[in-house]
Amino acid sequence: MKYTPVGPASRAELRAALLAQYDRAARELPWRADTDPYRILVSEIMLQQTRVETVRRYYGPWLDRFPTIDALASAREDVVLKAWEGLGYYRRARNLHRAARVVRESHGGTIPRTFEGLRGLPGVGEYTAGAVASIAFGAAVPAVDGNVRRVLARLFDAPAPTPAWLRERASELVDPERPGDWNQAVMELGATVCTPRGPRCAACPVAPWCAARAAGTQAERPAPLRKRAVPTSAIALAVIQHRGRLLLEKRPPDGLLAGMWAFPERHLPDDPAEAEERAGTGRPEREAGPDGAPGEEPGRAEALALVRSMGLAVVGEPLPLEPCRHRFTHLEAVYLPWALEVAKCDVVASGEVAWVEAGAPGNRAMPRAQQRVLDSWMRTIGVNTE
Ligand code: SF4
Repeated sequence: MKYTPVGPASRAELRAALLAQYDRAARELPWRADTDPYRILVSEIMLQQTRVETVRRYYGPWLDRFPTIDALASAREDVVLKAWEGLGYYRRARNLHRAARVVRESHGGTIPRTFEGLRGLPGVGEYTAGAVASIAFGAAVPAVDGNVRRVLARLFDAPAPTPAWLRERASELVDPERPGDWNQAVMELGATVCTPRGPRCAACPVAPWCAARAAGTQAERPAPLRKRAVPTSAIALAVIQHRGRLLLEKRPPDGLLAGMWAFPERHLPDDPAEAEERAGTGRPEREAGPDGAPGEEPGRAEALALVRSMGLAVVGEPLPLEPCRHRFTHLEAVYLPWALEVAKCDVVASGEVAWVEAGAPGNRAMPRAQQRVLDSWMRTIGVNTE
């Protein structure tokens, strides 16, 4: 791999230049106000795959609700998921909750100070451990996220940096005196100056050391990561209603959206290409049946079967709601919701279920896609929750 080394003397100058810029112009972010390890951990977990502006809205209320790691460890999972509602990637919330319990039970209530100790906590990967160890405890370890990857690839004009290469370069560069500020300064540079498209090299404090700038290859560095193709799956949702109330069920404690409240669902046994097409165009027209009569609309039979499997009887015609799609890490889900009025509310269910008032699932955390279905249901039947 092409690699333009930065010598020790030059490295010190580079650090000084970037840190001076960081001191002068860093964005004011609420989690930069102190170095409390719990607060730093919360912010770093929230920032994974989530925009800074979104995290700003959740960070303060989260700390009001769970001001200490012990408060978080003592909370019920339901309450934790509800506080996380809207941030997505709920596995992070469950892991943060588990980490708080591990800290209480195995570390005497004190967050580990070392990179290795932090790495042992649920949901804490290499990046998060590096960020917390350096920012909260002053450990001279790197933290390589997507922004840092881009900055380093350009600084060294590396077309396809591997994780090991990035770790090595980031470790060489980290400032031994101010490792936390250094890591944040590189991230800040990537977020505000050395952006994916149109890096502002003229305003960049590390431009004199930048090999990609010298070679004119900024736009090609780093080569984009190949996106993993994920399968598409069509899922029928049964929005079961009885006298204005809706039925939600609690999802199992493991697996996708574990522990959250959602509409009963059933996967359609169809081929991914059809689901993909459906996802792009909204709910499809009914296909003709063998005798030329209109065929079954996708998801209707599954939604009806779900209702019957719960010992409920449908009153009237099922009503199709607006389909919606949601991208999970490993799956593109196409939800096909059906509203079904049932005659009684005695449910046969293996797990926990609840009848909730329209538009008010109470303190139950619902996944974002399901909230969109709930909104669509309210629009369709004209529920006003104000
Ligand atoms: S000089 Fe340009 S390409 Fe190089 S680090 Fe700065 S902004 Fe990025």
